[in-house]
Amino acid sequence: MKNKQTVLIVDDIADNLNIAASAIIGHDINVILAQSGEQAIATTEKFHPDLILLDIMMPEMNGFEVCELLKSKSETKDIPVIFLTAMEDAKNIVEGFSLGAVDYITKPFHLEEVLVRVQTHLSISRLRKEIEEANSLLEQKVTERTAELVETNEKLKSEINERKLIENQLKTNNEKLILANEKAEESDRLKTEFLNNISHEIRTPMNGIVGFVNLLEMPDLSPENRKSYTTAITESSNQLLEIVNDIMAISTIHTKQEKVAEQNIVINNLINEVIDGFDAQVSTKGISIVKKLGTVGTSLELITDGLKLQQIFTKLIDNAIKYTNEGFVEFGYKLKTEVIEFYIKDTGIGISVGKHNEIFEQFRQVESDLTRAYGGAGLGLTIAKAYTHLLGGKIWLESELSKGSIFYFTIPFKPIEE
Ligand code: ADP
Repeated sequence: MKNKQTVLIVDDIADNLNIAASAIIGHDINVILAQSGEQAIATTEKFHPDLILLDIMMPEMNGFEVCELLKSKSETKDIPVIFLTAMEDAKNIVEGFSLGAVDYITKPFHLEEVLVRVQTHLSISRLRKEIEEANSLLEQKVTERTAELVETNEKLKSEINERKLIENQLKTNNEKLILANEKAEESDRLKTEFLNNISHEIRTPMNGIVGFVNLLEMPDLSPENRKSYTTAITESSNQLLEIVNDIMAISTIHTKQEKVAEQNIVINNLINEVIDGFDAQVSTKGISIVKKLGTVGTSLELITDGLKLQQIFTKLIDNAIKYTNEGFVEFGYKLKTEVIEFYIKDTGIGISVGKHNEIFEQFRQVESDLTRAYGGAGLGLTIAKAYTHLLGGKIWLESELSKGSIFYFTIPFKPIEE
């Protein structure tokens, strides 16, 4: 029977054992008997009774020694012990309690008293066990729940981290989108500005051509006038051609179709050719040109794409003359380690430091109102930069508003092999 409790009665006198047992037997309680201290220890360890009735006065090992031994072992220390004492001996009773006993019963036994005390302590013992079991069940539940909570917590933490990562990713994507949008809007604005500009740039020489062609048809035209009209028509046509060439250049740069065609170049010849093309413009503006082309008679020769170098130089000289109303335009070059560094300096309107990067972007014209007055489609520096990079060099500038500018560019120095 699972729920039947067991009482161990220990006494060296058989009669006492029998009397005590008779008080308990028949009340749904198992009874085991032991007639010595040693036997009591062995039986306890084997059967784990729920209560021990322990005689004090026994030969060899008395009740106190038995009790002390049981209380010293973890498996038996919680089994309640009731001492059986011959007389109401206060000393014995006190010592018994001090050793951990829960009660005492005096001899001679009163059977009802024995039964009541045994039943009382058995119920206390049962209740204590139930409480202990409930406690350990509770503890187990708490441990399990804590483990579950820890796991849920970890999951939540990793979810939060994941969310944070996604949020950050979204934020960066959003920022990128905003930037891309701003760029798209800006490039749209620049394109509109460019179209307005370019139509103006095309219309001016076109009107010139149409006007002068009409004038050529006038009867009795003097040879001088005819000459000046045809010169004007040629100039306007060249301007038109230049715009068309720039647009073509930009489109081949964009489609990455621009190729480098190297040949032997005499630097001074190339520069002189370029500058001769600006003679008329320079004399109309009344500015002076200062060439610093090295010692007379010495001219650098190298291998590069002459057409592109000429274009870079033309664009920079064109700007320097265009944006300078008085003073001079100076240019020259220096041979440095492995590169030639060119410079084009002017005493013109200058460019504020914050705009130095912008001006290389296509269609970009800084100080628009001011530059608009000077004409141009905003493509020259974009082409100059792209060509410099194609040739393997760099381009940069030093300039301040109203203080003139110096544009520098380099190309690799590849000497001509003899
Ligand atoms: P643009 O056809 O307008 O001259 P560029 O690409 O050649 O186009 O130059 C871009 C802008 O850089 C110009 O509109 C002008 O504002 C500025 N810029 C270029 N060169 C000079 C210079 N030498 N002095 C002052 N401003 C310059």
